[in-house]
Amino acid sequence: MQSTLNKVSNIPKQKETCCLSVIVPFLNEEDVLPVFHQRLRAVLDVIPESCEIIYVDDGSTDKSRELLANFDPGANTMTCIDLSRNFGKEAAMSAGLDHCQGQSVIVIDADLQDPPELIPEMLRHSKSGFDVVNMQRRVRHGESRFKRFSAAVFYRALNKLAKTHIPENTGDFRLLSRNVVDHITMLKERNRYMKGLFTWPGFKQVTLPYDRDPRFSGETKWDYFKLLGLAIDGITAFSIRPLRLATIAGVGIAVSAFAYGAIVVFKTLIIGEPITGYPSMMVVQLALGGVQLITIGVLGEYIGRIFIETKQRPLYVVRSVHEISQESAQLENRA
Ligand code: UDP
Ligand code: MG
Repeated sequence: MQSTLNKVSNIPKQKETCCLSVIVPFLNEEDVLPVFHQRLRAVLDVIPESCEIIYVDDGSTDKSRELLANFDPGANTMTCIDLSRNFGKEAAMSAGLDHCQGQSVIVIDADLQDPPELIPEMLRHSKSGFDVVNMQRRVRHGESRFKRFSAAVFYRALNKLAKTHIPENTGDFRLLSRNVVDHITMLKERNRYMKGLFTWPGFKQVTLPYDRDPRFSGETKWDYFKLLGLAIDGITAFSIRPLRLATIAGVGIAVSAFAYGAIVVFKTLIIGEPITGYPSMMVVQLALGGVQLITIGVLGEYIGRIFIETKQRPLYVVRSVHEISQESAQLENRA
């Protein structure tokens, strides 16, 4: 496989300024990275555009980083950004976007769930004038029924609550034009729900369906708690409607409580009915207490985010940036 890749990489490219940047955030993907790199190179080496591959190591503790140092970038340039610890995929993607130089930028997972072979198709759409090419999962192989159901519910809720339309079932795999990337990198918010930020600048968008493969190896890094956290991040980053809903629910419940209170006072004082109904009183009290706690929780979610934003900490810390060209990789491999 390596020899075929080397052969393909000798095809001279009509070098322009960097045309395409491919950003690959990863965390502990030693089993899949070599295969991913081969498949990515097999695609990039045969397209005429000059390409840069940006690997963002999000604090891996396995051998992924050492593996990268020996990868042959072929006719492309390759940059490895090592973050100082695990900052999360959203921060790793932001690091890649801040460093990339391409006129078109593609974000792709390292686990081969997003097939690199779709890149030429995405580029074709970009050349025909689209600024954002969203890749929508038609089939999600290797995902449980519950995960698919919860994802569908989440996207529906998010799109009802948020003003920015976030296409359903689109992950982070997408192409962005330089114009869009420049707008996204200007957004300095700490709560980065990237699927929303990718869509926020607007411009001309197209959505292409694709079949999402199962993970090549290893396990997803997202358990249900993390996914729930991401869902709450997404909603709070793009909508304040939950606060409005809390206000509306509060007004509705308060008005009904006053009306019911007036009926009770009327019955007791005017009609002279004896005070009864301990169970119903408890139900009302507990229900009101529950609604109040939920409302305080919603408030807390927003206040917590204001707290995080005010601290202005950087999104990520870079330990080192290495650029690997074909010549340096060959020297390294010979040594
Ligand atoms: N990833 C990352 N940082 C993290 C978690 C994940 O860079 O903290 C990378 C991971 O290595 C992979 C991509 O993000 O390249 C998608 O992660 P995963 O496959 O676990 O998510 P899923 O596809 O299940 O949504
Ligand atoms: Mg995955």
